[in-house]
Amino acid sequence: MAALSNPISDAKRLVLLGSTGSIGTQALEVAEKLGCPVVALTAHSRVETMEEQVRRFRPRLAVMVEEKAAADLRVRLADTPVRVEAGVDGLCEAACLEGADLVLNSVVGMVGLRPTLAALEAGRDVALANKETLVAGGALVMEAAARQGARLLPVDSEHSAIFQCLQGAPPENRALRRLILTASGGPFFGKSREELKRVGLQEALKHPNWSMGAKITIDSATMMNKGLELIEARWLFDVPPENIDIIIHRESVVHSLIEYDDHSVIAQLGVPDMRLPIQYALTWPMRRPSPVKALHLTEWGKLTFFPPDDEAFPCIGICREAVTRGGLYPAAVNAANEEAVALFRKERIGFLDIGELVGAMLERPFPGAGRGIPSLEEILAADREVRRYTAEAAQRLAR
Ligand code: NAD
Ligand code: MG
Repeated sequence: MAALSNPISDAKRLVLLGSTGSIGTQALEVAEKLGCPVVALTAHSRVETMEEQVRRFRPRLAVMVEEKAAADLRVRLADTPVRVEAGVDGLCEAACLEGADLVLNSVVGMVGLRPTLAALEAGRDVALANKETLVAGGALVMEAAARQGARLLPVDSEHSAIFQCLQGAPPENRALRRLILTASGGPFFGKSREELKRVGLQEALKHPNWSMGAKITIDSATMMNKGLELIEARWLFDVPPENIDIIIHRESVVHSLIEYDDHSVIAQLGVPDMRLPIQYALTWPMRRPSPVKALHLTEWGKLTFFPPDDEAFPCIGICREAVTRGGLYPAAVNAANEEAVALFRKERIGFLDIGELVGAMLERPFPGAGRGIPSLEEILAADREVRRYTAEAAQRLAR
């Protein structure tokens, strides 16, 4: 068996957006083991971590979205030939840098949409952890990928599972009946709506199975994460939302399943460890040895499955309705959620208020699917407008 640290001859040259985050740091670990050269790194404001990463991986370009952080990094890296840029423009420049084979987008939030589009427009393949990109701009992103012949490789574990299950399926006769996304249920599985009135920030930040960034951890507690993933799956696999089911699977061992027309169900299993889907996006269509622990099913004994509780956790239903309506509705529920989660993290609103603020978007008039593919400008304008509206609505709730 090959040693884990042996570089692979077809190692892809990587641009990594969001390198200081939970996915970003794991991606660097995977890239190092695979011997993938890193040509650009980007982060928001964590300068110290970025400096360490730059000294270790020697990219040509490093971007800090925050201007002050970029100025600081420039001083710190004065003894190196690394170019430092700032802002979302810098992020987009990294996304289409010459000489890269793959852009891994692991920034958090719909701020990832512009760089994803920039990468696809430049014909780069994109490994996508940043699910908000597809939620806010699914139609636009899929159209750009198809037009440029660029690939979107899923990193989210459920979508990687489905992608893996689909390998070998004849594209001309996919005969796909259903996608089944699994959800861990988060820290509040089994709680009633009444009990959820009293949960606080610290409890919401304790995920039972995964250690992740704060935003996705809160999204997992509200189950909004699964709603966002439903929309993500609708675009990645071109399956209508009514054919995407969600089931609760507490152990996070079965990462998702597909059902064919003949009722054969295929699943992908593995221990819960994001380094596996990250690595598959980097080595696809090949497989390589990995440091991820092997799965021994007898150690788990049994695996459990439950239907979601739509009353206590309304966000999945809200997202299903938003993607069914289409147009700007998914971008609107995403923007409301980003704003509401930020307010909850500042303890300005309660846990159940997140679902209320997101659900309020279904009462508002946005153009639906009949109006064609929303442009980037329309999506960005709706995003700004919804954030403003949600911040105001949250103030009324707090009173
Ligand atoms: P994180 O908060 O740990 O890291 C986010 C990264 O994005 C950081 O590098 C940060 O510097 C950067 N960033 C933050 N705000 C930014 C901004 N305004 N502009 C540019 N860059 C910014 O988040 P994470 O848990 O790594 O998640 C990243 C993405 O991957 C999210 O979309 C999340 O839903 C998705 N995802 C994460 C996991 C996981 O296990 N963490 C699993 C599946 C999907
Ligand atoms: Mg996921």
